[in-house]
Amino acid sequence: MQGPKKFPVRTCIACRAEKPKRELCRIVKNADGIFLDATGKCAGRGAYICRSEECAKKLVQKKLLSRAFSEPVPQETYEKIEADLRTLCGDAQ
Ligand SMILES: [Zn+2]
Repeated sequence: MQGPKKFPVRTCIACRAEKPKRELCRIVKNADGIFLDATGKCAGRGAYICRSEECAKKLVQKKLLSRAFSEPVPQETYEKIEADLRTLCGDAQ
């Protein structure tokens, strides 16, 4: 028997919606810094966000990465991730 719970589910840090992991973008923090993990396979601590412009905006405005990773995140990092999210979101449409 197969059920919908078969797929791993993660919570978007912006809107708190629970979605299948593969529908979300992964942001990772490791020794290289904090960046958008397009492959979803980078080692490190991960946070998940919807592929939506609304959630990307919220992420930047509310500084949600600082909360997710429990440390201050520079504005440049937010801008880079927002730009990368936009690129990725565009591909997903
Ligand atoms: Zn979201």
